[in-house]
Amino acid sequence: MVEDVVKTLKVRIKKEVLTTRKKERLRRITGRDTRIIEKYVRIIHHNRRKICTKTKKGKIRVHRGKLDELTLTTSKVKEEERRTTVPHDLKKMFPYCSHNEFQECRDIAVQLYEQGYRPSPTRPPIKRARRQLINKKRFILVHLPKEKNNTLTRWWVGIRDSLDTWKRNTPYHQKLWLPLEMSTFHQKELKKGRIKSLELRYRHSTREWWVYFQLRVLPPSFYLTSQGDNSSSLPPAVLGIDLGINILATGVLLTPKKKLTNKEIKFWYTKQWNRVNHRYKLKLSRLQRKGDLNDQSGKKHQLYRFLGLLRRRYRNVKQAYIHQFINDVVQTIETYARRYDLFVVVGYPKHIREEKEKGKGKSSRKFRRKLHQWNFFLILALLRRALILSGFEPHRILTIEEKGTSSHCARCGRKVIRPVRGLVHCPSCDYTFHSDLTGAMNIARKFLGSLFRPRGTTITDYLTGYRYSSTHFTVCRGLSHWLQPQ
Ligand SMILES: [Zn+2]
Repeated sequence: MVEDVVKTLKVRIKKEVLTTRKKERLRRITGRDTRIIEKYVRIIHHNRRKICTKTKKGKIRVHRGKLDELTLTTSKVKEEERRTTVPHDLKKMFPYCSHNEFQECRDIAVQLYEQGYRPSPTRPPIKRARRQLINKKRFILVHLPKEKNNTLTRWWVGIRDSLDTWKRNTPYHQKLWLPLEMSTFHQKELKKGRIKSLELRYRHSTREWWVYFQLRVLPPSFYLTSQGDNSSSLPPAVLGIDLGINILATGVLLTPKKKLTNKEIKFWYTKQWNRVNHRYKLKLSRLQRKGDLNDQSGKKHQLYRFLGLLRRRYRNVKQAYIHQFINDVVQTIETYARRYDLFVVVGYPKHIREEKEKGKGKSSRKFRRKLHQWNFFLILALLRRALILSGFEPHRILTIEEKGTSSHCARCGRKVIRPVRGLVHCPSCDYTFHSDLTGAMNIARKFLGSLFRPRGTTITDYLTGYRYSSTHFTVCRGLSHWLQPQ
């Protein structure tokens, strides 16, 4: 049972060999959307008395048919039903757009309006990412071998042009052939999965077009033995992972050996990241304060531009660090998985934000701010995805609620006290331990504990909401003695 994952593959369109005509077409395909959607929103808002209704719950619904009556002329229906003039003739405003495309844009605009987006005279119009999703029926990917092709480009993608071309009074769709810069890496990736859809994107910074292929990848199974079944001969083990703020994650591997050495304990921690993070946050907050103070002077515009730039840079740097972190974790897990029949359990801090709310407990303002900026959901989702891509079955990566795991002793299960931040002391067995390690150990033990409850129980993955019956985890029986309270 391996889950398939959707992966994106970015390929650059060779802009330098495109003809001017093709460039113009691409520009129309990727740039037109935004303006039409904005137009639609304005039309809806202008005619809201006629076409909008309110549901019982107070939500606004837009009548799409009535909106079409206001915007689109029809020519293909019977004579008496034909609309020749409409108040807002979109086909006149955007003559290169087809009827279907108007309806796609209409749906997006209606969605936006129902979600509460309103046009305003002061605010600039929406700037959606310039992109166009194209489903499988509307494009083909062609590879021309060396002998048959005398141009340098071997990979072409043919997109059924959504612009109407008129020939003898009937519209038909041409194919727009785009040359792709496909490297050996891209070709390897393409072989791994099936193409689901394609997205055309325009990047402002480099002024280039890119094709984003959406691939459906079926990862190879990590534990598939030569017999073809999943029962491996390796000893079972459970890796508990506790996510933290200063230390990004702590992992403890529970094995039947019942011993904890340095090999079984892992801290994922980058000093550099903490420093970089801190520096960016300082800079950002300083600039924001300056922007508030500087309200009257004329240099505000420049300041906000710089602030935007800095925010973007911070986001990019953060992303790079997160990906590096995920890579590290996956690598460690893979080395463990070669020696053990491994299950990974991650604590999901579901209630932690409410617990540490203002006025509750002793949490400081600084700590609370850190807590809210801490994107654990993203980290968990990325980790799950990366592990599934490297071949783990979904039931081997579980997320369980971590409530109470760091406040109980990992040895005897009684309540502990925290003498210093980061340390945990159990009064009944006189044992001092690292608090994150206790958390990770308790997470692994909690998972095992829920396995050995009476029959018929299921384990719910908090991240996805999937339920797995305990039959999935029969290999874990060998670990049962870890559970016995000592
Ligand atoms: Zn204890």
